[in-house]
Amino acid sequence: MRFAATLIPTLKENPVEARVESHRLMLRAGLIRQLGAGIYTWLPMGLKVLRKVETIVREEMDAAGAQEILMPAVQPAELWQESGRWQMYGPELLRFQDRGGRDFCFGPTHEEVVTDLVRRELRSYRHLPANFYQIQTKFRDEIRPRFGIMRGREFLMKDAYSFDLDEVGLDKSYILMVETYNRIFQRCGLHYRAVEADTGSIGGASSHEFHVLANSGEDVIASCDSCGYAANLEKAEGSSPSAIPGGEVGSMRAVATPGVKTMEEVSAFLGYPLGRMIKSLVVEGEGGAFQLLLRGDHELNLIKAAHAVGSAFVQLVEPARVQELTGVAVGSLGPVGAVLPVLADHCLKDLVGFVAGANEDGKHWVDVMWERDCPKPQMADLRNVVAGDGCPRCQVGSLRLDRGIEVGHVFKLGDKYSKALQVAVQDADGRERTPVMGCYGIGVSRIVAAAIEQNHDDQGIVWPVALAPFPVEIVLVNPKETQAVAVATSLEEGLKKFGIDVLLDDRDERLGVKFKDADLLGIPWRAVVGGRSLKEGSVEVQRRGKPDKELIALDKVVEFLSARVRDGK
Ligand code: ATP
Ligand code: MG
Repeated sequence: MRFAATLIPTLKENPVEARVESHRLMLRAGLIRQLGAGIYTWLPMGLKVLRKVETIVREEMDAAGAQEILMPAVQPAELWQESGRWQMYGPELLRFQDRGGRDFCFGPTHEEVVTDLVRRELRSYRHLPANFYQIQTKFRDEIRPRFGIMRGREFLMKDAYSFDLDEVGLDKSYILMVETYNRIFQRCGLHYRAVEADTGSIGGASSHEFHVLANSGEDVIASCDSCGYAANLEKAEGSSPSAIPGGEVGSMRAVATPGVKTMEEVSAFLGYPLGRMIKSLVVEGEGGAFQLLLRGDHELNLIKAAHAVGSAFVQLVEPARVQELTGVAVGSLGPVGAVLPVLADHCLKDLVGFVAGANEDGKHWVDVMWERDCPKPQMADLRNVVAGDGCPRCQVGSLRLDRGIEVGHVFKLGDKYSKALQVAVQDADGRERTPVMGCYGIGVSRIVAAAIEQNHDDQGIVWPVALAPFPVEIVLVNPKETQAVAVATSLEEGLKKFGIDVLLDDRDERLGVKFKDADLLGIPWRAVVGGRSLKEGSVEVQRRGKPDKELIALDKVVEFLSARVRDGK
């Protein structure tokens, strides 16, 4: 491909709207342009990368025996009413009407459509197991589209749905997809981790997420340094640390704390460590309001809180509402004489001689003891784990926290959709059975951004070879020099024979400009054709991201580059 004849609108300046490196670099390298909030056009270079990801995903899904289909983006409301999600889905679902006033949505996901297909077409156990997938445009009206295509509103997803006669079959389909995902992310050249994930309101069934590790990731993942345990912070189980020594505990007494508000302020004022202070938070869900107790140095995990109080969803209650519910300010809440039902985090089980709000403004209780001074509440896992916590699985190692970008998600759905849409398949004995389903997503477009987050330097992108728009870029020192053009063209032809596509920078630009753009675009191998090296019968070759340049004899260049690209180096 000729640079001069291709739309590669590189930018010198950093676009002000971009807050993460991948977004900045995708705009600066001319991979994408924004059309509206969370909606982007893919330009030639960006689309090349997107297609590389698609190809890897498609090849591995096909190899796993999944069947590719293509479902419509526009879906009739009736199907969503049947599954109950027309009411449940909320404002992320883009809804509209056709000219006849019939309701539709733009698909954010395709469980309903694929389940409808299966109930019409698959009637016998002989058709199962089946796994259908597509690579298709989704729309989700995200509340905060951001980071470019990382969290877009319109984006490209690979979604797959498996159908099995029973749980044993589902387990097999699920494991096959986990293995397939491992191969996909390895082939993409990404540093990733598979982690246990929360199953949300469906509950019970298993779910794993695949995260590309990067500092800018929106998710936090906990992993054990000793065994293989890894989980999303949303889900990572907190082990209860051994009790913080309480020293000699006197009798519970009240201390005036006028105007002292935050945990840190109270801790400094009273001279007690945060780990010996109890903080109270109020959450509310469909099951009512609860007062939750945590150690002063821990953070509440709302997903765990919802599980603990038996609600699908809870939210933290605003200060004014806390006042309304309890009669005191949120900073003065405590377990002694609490009016709301109380739940405490496991870490508080053995805490002795602690500090807590006195349910009265401007006052704290000091040296409180469970049972002696107030009943021991029901204990639950309520907090986010912190780095250094003991591993809940092996009990030997400790947890570390990393940031991750979710690029894939596998989920055992069970019969949620097949039951709602009344799918019936005859088993070998002629009985009607409801098949069980799994669903498996990959953020095809998000992978492009995640790969850049993980692979860039001050000068630009440093593509993994498997995802680069081109594995090789030839920079012509002077496109008017006919001998150099002839050499470049023959190298391009030679590489093509090995299946290697070349970007040829044939622009009539200063060499410095071409080098800057080459660094920005991040193509793995650069070959400079022209100038003194060419006169001496060689080409200067450099690996992006590495400082050293090598002079390779003209007749060895194709061999040199094709060997390295083939090895994915
Ligand atoms: P997230 O927690 O990031 O919103 P999700 O749980 O809503 O993700 P799924 O419904 O499991 O995502 O979708 C499958 C995959 O699609 C995700 O793993 C992610 O890689 C990708 N994805 C989801 N939402 C977006 C988005 N707004 N923009 C780009 N990719 C997305
Ligand atoms: Mg989402």
